[in-house]
Amino acid sequence: TEYPAAIGIDLGTSGVRAAALDRDGGQVAFAASAFATPHEICEPAAWWRGVEICLKILAAKVPLAQVRGLAVDGTSGTMLALDSDKQPVGEALLYNDPCPDASVVAAIDAAAPAASPARGTSTALGRAILLSRRRGVAHVVHQADWIAMRLGAGEPISDENNALKTGYDLSCESWPDWIERAGMARHLLPRVLRAGAKIGSVGRLARELGLPPSCLLFAGTTDGCASFLATGASKVGDGVTALGSTLVLKLASDRAVDAPQYGIYSHRVGDFWLVGGASNSGGAVIRQLIGDERLAELTARLDPARRTKLDYYPLLKPGERFPINDPHYPPRLAPRPADDAVFFQGILEGIAEIERLGFERLMALGAPALTSLRTVGGGARNPAWQEIRRNKLGVPFLEARSTEAAAGTAALVLRQENKH
Ligand code: ADP
Repeated sequence: TEYPAAIGIDLGTSGVRAAALDRDGGQVAFAASAFATPHEICEPAAWWRGVEICLKILAAKVPLAQVRGLAVDGTSGTMLALDSDKQPVGEALLYNDPCPDASVVAAIDAAAPAASPARGTSTALGRAILLSRRRGVAHVVHQADWIAMRLGAGEPISDENNALKTGYDLSCESWPDWIERAGMARHLLPRVLRAGAKIGSVGRLARELGLPPSCLLFAGTTDGCASFLATGASKVGDGVTALGSTLVLKLASDRAVDAPQYGIYSHRVGDFWLVGGASNSGGAVIRQLIGDERLAELTARLDPARRTKLDYYPLLKPGERFPINDPHYPPRLAPRPADDAVFFQGILEGIAEIERLGFERLMALGAPALTSLRTVGGGARNPAWQEIRRNKLGVPFLEARSTEAAAGTAALVLRQENKH
């Protein structure tokens, strides 16, 4: 039997997952528990049930006696209120809920520095402020914080990655004064540690689920940072492209890059900064213009060696944020050739060009050059697209080790453990 050394728990949008890794980062067991109803995503009790189920599944698959560390990641920006007994007050406010109270958004915009990731209509700080107004609230925490509290942290403790969009200041390593002016009572917010920092030993509930008393609990991260780590990307210059509905680029950098006009901000993860940007282009354009049912047939007819020169900028509607910041930027999808395989290739080449421009933009803003690239998301399955992209980007393409955020969070624990 293989003995896992680290466990990562992922609180995702569809359920809870857990990954157990051995000392070398190899996955020895995996567990998943889907939410029974879509509404459970708002219910802290359902998150905890999912954690219990996943840890029980892991314990049934592998011995947990030698697990040395555990951490939790959650959807970035999902917040909940707790009473003085650390019990949830009502339901959580989700990461993608636009703030229903315009005066809260306005107060944040008035108080926050121009480059703050807490700005905008889907601000996590806005959710924190709304939650703080509920009756009987003693703490406002992030999704992952509460699960970590139950697993042993006890007190409200968060990590810099989850806290970033709630307004935490990474340079001062504290909740800044302006948060009070925006309407948030700072004493309600959790203490914040660096992602992967040691919190302490696991608690009774974790031990009852089979974790040994010697197992340590570490500060977690967001699902986004965890997904990056899951791929095996680990050093400055390592990049990850997500070819999902949207095109998302991430790059490990030796310095923070913040460019709010491009929607770029940086997370501190271990010994690097994780810099990222998201384009409005991506697979959603393919889905709409080509359709899933024709992908296989048309992919077989692609000719990556012969460029179409169509010079498309595939968007579903005008407006782009990154790598070009222009709310009115027009889609470029004409002329449309008679052969749909050529049309498809033009779209793929166009998205690949946006990817190239994206890494170039990150570099122009101070990030290092891309030195290796891993690819995740639905589009990663297309070998011809891979070739088009490889020709354009000119760096080694590496296989993603895992696409499970839970595995990335376990990898964060291992990185920490290996330092000792
Ligand atoms: P999401 O971001 O919604 O989680 P996925 O990672 O599941 O998306 O990727 C789905 C997207 O990938 C769709 O937009 C689809 O058009 C695109 N896609 C799936 N398979 C291919 C393929 N073989 N070639 C190009 N695009 C693909």
